[in-house]
Amino acid sequence: MHIIDGKSLAQQIRSHIADEVEILGRERNIVPGLAVVLVGDDPASHAYVKMKAKACKEVGYYSIVHEMPDTISQDEIIGTIKMMNDNPRIDGILVQLPLPPHIDTDAILEVIDPAKDVDGFHPYNVGRIVTKLDAFASCTPQGVMRMFEHYDIDLKGKDVCVVGASNIVGKPMAALLLNADATVTVTHIYTQDLARHTREADIIIVGVGVPGLIKADMVKEGAVVIDIGINKLDDGRLVGDVDYDAVAPKCSYITPVPGGVGPMTIAMLMENTLKAAKARNV
Ligand code: NAD
Repeated sequence: MHIIDGKSLAQQIRSHIADEVEILGRERNIVPGLAVVLVGDDPASHAYVKMKAKACKEVGYYSIVHEMPDTISQDEIIGTIKMMNDNPRIDGILVQLPLPPHIDTDAILEVIDPAKDVDGFHPYNVGRIVTKLDAFASCTPQGVMRMFEHYDIDLKGKDVCVVGASNIVGKPMAALLLNADATVTVTHIYTQDLARHTREADIIIVGVGVPGLIKADMVKEGAVVIDIGINKLDDGRLVGDVDYDAVAPKCSYITPVPGGVGPMTIAMLMENTLKAAKARNV
């Protein structure tokens, strides 16, 4: 069994980006810029934004965080995004999700200039990804694909079961896997017999938010298991959606939580921001 070390792979990627940013700055006076919109005071959202800002600093990006109270109106958020669309120092715009219930998240995401949509959530980028055109892909699934590439895990013709079908994780994951010629099954809360699907799979990718959902008897011997879930237990521990201790001995490869997919998501955000900066400065 091999543990996929997302932390160290993410570190390598970030260090390559830092080298490239240094050269861009020195030779062309370009400093990639990322703007984050953070609404409300959800502690998890604040923690993620802090990690993203730290990553920006580390690779040498200009970054700003627009913090707003959760009483803010939809129009004010839209106004801020439009300002960032027009700001030449900003290459990437990210709206930290979830937004408060009175805000229409889809409408907000559609205001982001697709050329600055480094989270890959704008329907324009989603559509281009589905049709296998160059675009910004959602960072988490993109990070998972990068792990497969780095660890030489072949996807062609493989049976892959994606558990969870959200717009930001499961659906874009399925699109990227199809683009890589995998045979993809997407499961979700209404799937009748989840284990029937996972047991058949060469690769299981789970992003649901239910600790211990994937148990040992749901996993085929030698399977690859990628755990996207992040759950904070009452005792403060962070765990994924996989019953790790029981499942790991059956796997050929498995990602830990923490230290698996999480760091890759941030590395892909840095990569997308660099890509946006280069595309805007050709
Ligand atoms: P979401 O709530 O939007 O979607 C959850 C999905 O899981 C839905 O499609 C739902 O139908 C499905 N689901 C729920 N219960 C299920 C069950 N019992 N069996 C099968 N499917 C079930 O959540 P999300 O935003 O997609 O996030 C999912 C998880 O991934 C969360 O734990 C989140 O913290 C984590 N996440 C991690 C990263 C990362 O960087 N590692 C990034 C984004 C999200």
